Amino acid sequence: MDKNTQDLLEKGESLPVMESFYTIQGEGFHKGKASYFIRIGGCDVGCHWCDVKESWDAGAHPIISTKEIVDEAIKYSDTIVVTGGEPLMWDMTLLTTGLKSKNKIIHIETSGAYKLTGNWDWICLSPKKRMNPLAEFYNVANELKVIVYNKDDLKFAEEQAKKVNSNAHLYLQPEWDNREKMMPIMVDYVKNNPKWKISLQTHKYLNIP
Ligand code: SF4
Repeated sequence: MDKNTQDLLEKGESLPVMESFYTIQGEGFHKGKASYFIRIGGCDVGCHWCDVKESWDAGAHPIISTKEIVDEAIKYSDTIVVTGGEPLMWDMTLLTTGLKSKNKIIHIETSGAYKLTGNWDWICLSPKKRMNPLAEFYNVANELKVIVYNKDDLKFAEEQAKKVNSNAHLYLQPEWDNREKMMPIMVDYVKNNPKWKISLQTHKYLNIP
């Protein structure tokens, strides 16, 4: 990567974009809402069950100017979801400023492992055991979404719920490939611990991106 591209990335004037698409948000609080997704490349959190491992290597994705990303996104939806990868490996200030200048509602899905940048209408914090969120995320998260791969993740979920602000919506979401095994356990768990709700990856059931 040349020095000029590196500079643009550091300032958030360009970003690696793995893909972008207009679809229905499948997960969490905004499930069912038509949204335009921007999937930013780059993640070093290393979840073994990650379903977007292709996103990890930022260098494998086209570097696109932030202005171009905004100009494209605003054609599709008033709700824009920035996801990854881990989008906060990059400075999100310019992307969110650009989208806000077009009156868009902007959501982020993040592990919280990197410093928060950007101006967001909705922060979905999805903490990961391998790299815990920075403390600042617990105060600002609008929803806490914990992926449940095994029973131990329920303990992790409770630890995270103790830290997050009391207004945050709490979701447990089965890891897709383990869902048949974990769902009955999660159903019982939520019946006994009703502060949690179950989130399903409904876009996968609908066979849409
Ligand atoms: S944080 Fe997200 S993108 Fe990164 S490895 Fe974990 S599941 Fe995959």
